[in-house]
Amino acid sequence: MQDYELSVQHVLWRMERLHSKKEVVTKREQGFHRITNGELVRRVNRLAGALKRLGVKPGDRVATLAWNNYRHLELYYAVPCMGAVLHTLNLRLFPQHLEFIINDAEDKVLFVDQTLVPLLKPLVGKIPSIKTIVLMTDGAPAAADHGLGELLDYETLLAAESDDYPWPKLSERMAASMCYTSGTTGNPKGVVYSHRSQFLHTMGALGADSLAITEKDTVLPIVAMFHANSWGLPYACGMAGSKVLLPDRFMGDAKSIVDMAEQEDATILAGVPTIWIGTVAYLKESGKRLPKVHTVICGGSAIPRALMESMDALGLRMLHAWGMTETSPLGSVARPKADTKPEDELNARLTQGVAGAGVEIRICDSATGVELPWDGVAFGEIQVRGPWIARGYHNGYDPGKLTEDGWFRTGDVAKITPEGYIEIVDRTKDVIKSGGEWISSVELENAIMAHPKILEAAVIGMAHPKWDERPVAYAVPKPEFKGKVTQEEVIDFLRDKVAKWWLPDEVRFIDEVPKTSVGKFDKKVLRASAAPIKEGAAPAVRK
Ligand code: ADP
Repeated sequence: MQDYELSVQHVLWRMERLHSKKEVVTKREQGFHRITNGELVRRVNRLAGALKRLGVKPGDRVATLAWNNYRHLELYYAVPCMGAVLHTLNLRLFPQHLEFIINDAEDKVLFVDQTLVPLLKPLVGKIPSIKTIVLMTDGAPAAADHGLGELLDYETLLAAESDDYPWPKLSERMAASMCYTSGTTGNPKGVVYSHRSQFLHTMGALGADSLAITEKDTVLPIVAMFHANSWGLPYACGMAGSKVLLPDRFMGDAKSIVDMAEQEDATILAGVPTIWIGTVAYLKESGKRLPKVHTVICGGSAIPRALMESMDALGLRMLHAWGMTETSPLGSVARPKADTKPEDELNARLTQGVAGAGVEIRICDSATGVELPWDGVAFGEIQVRGPWIARGYHNGYDPGKLTEDGWFRTGDVAKITPEGYIEIVDRTKDVIKSGGEWISSVELENAIMAHPKILEAAVIGMAHPKWDERPVAYAVPKPEFKGKVTQEEVIDFLRDKVAKWWLPDEVRFIDEVPKTSVGKFDKKVLRASAAPIKEGAAPAVRK
């Protein structure tokens, strides 16, 4: 067989030669911006020329601070295909985290959306590796008071180049892009994807038992292009030749999302559960429906059963996937197997699914490292290996993440059924240890979110003198039940759903669960501000 180097260049070739008429549509303040793949590839060639002229060399890091839009997509191709490394910056990180990761990656050039220029202000003078900043804007340049010196203009740079960039021959082991973890459980750490891993991950994502994205689809990722490789969707869509819808900075707005999906005939949507909680509320209130959507890819955190049921009732079929920045991110997908009985379908779809082709998985006792059986009962840390799984972090942080025999420790705790379905119990850092037994915060949250008066719930373990830790629930009532739901009501509701000793010591009502930079419940923030458990709180529940 030929010794063909796997690279992102192949995806670009397909977009140009096979799917040049397909459109990339970006939401604008007013209406949509449209560009065909053919035109986009020409601009990618120009962009590569501009990067070269700016002195970008193979292996150099090129950072982006941008929303989901066509220019960001152009960077997704031009940077890796010319041999440099695309570093997507998470625009929701605190300035000190941004400063840390830009310096850690030693980014050389930075591309920034005009609306995000203010985020750079606190970094002035603190990011010495950045030699050039390029502004991406449709109209007037940014106000000059940003203190960043001269900003180059993206469109002016492209206008000076030709449509025909001489793409270099790449080795598949070269770095293509990098992304930092969102810091849910600590400082962000850099994960570097190779051309080979991106290529194989793309092929894995396209499989019929995986995300099954095809040329006939119109895909609307409400998954930030700055986080977790945007779930691999940009390259998967490019490889398949699907039409792409990009919501730009309107990702958190359910109306914008539904309108865009409706007007552009989206068939596949993708996003974390919190996006769909908002979408369900909007669809119910507006009476709108999205009959052309056949799949809603959902991952990033567990799907609450109540959410999947509401989405099903609205005709939106969710496809549950599990993964993390370190797994590129696709690890597993929940498509019920052929022998699933109709009454077990929903339960199977609510698991984190089975490992995708290309990914090997095992669970191990966190303390002893001993591998555990797939009996649906024993639970331990998920460890994974495969061609798109990280073996470590940029600059060697946290070397202990790889086991001696080469498996990546994910920090997620799960059971695996004999059929191979993964059921995530918790993150190792979130699981609650009460009286020597484990309580899954995720399971408790899902049980609470099934209460008809509750919109969102997050459960944390709080220090307890006798039991070590006890669960405390934070719950957000649905707007119409604000002030009209009691702790006793919630606890009573849980009584026949979880073991007695799992019942939270307290249910605290709040207006909103704090969210991380990528829309997950931020338990770090809850923990930091949580008042201790009240003396004598809900004493009955522990007996
Ligand atoms: P961070 O680790 O900084 O939150 P990631 O987006 O990489 O950033 O998060 C990956 C983590 O998200 C996983 O380790 C897991 O804990 C959680 N996660 C992802 N998908 C699911 C899912 N389908 N069900 C439960 N947890 C999930």
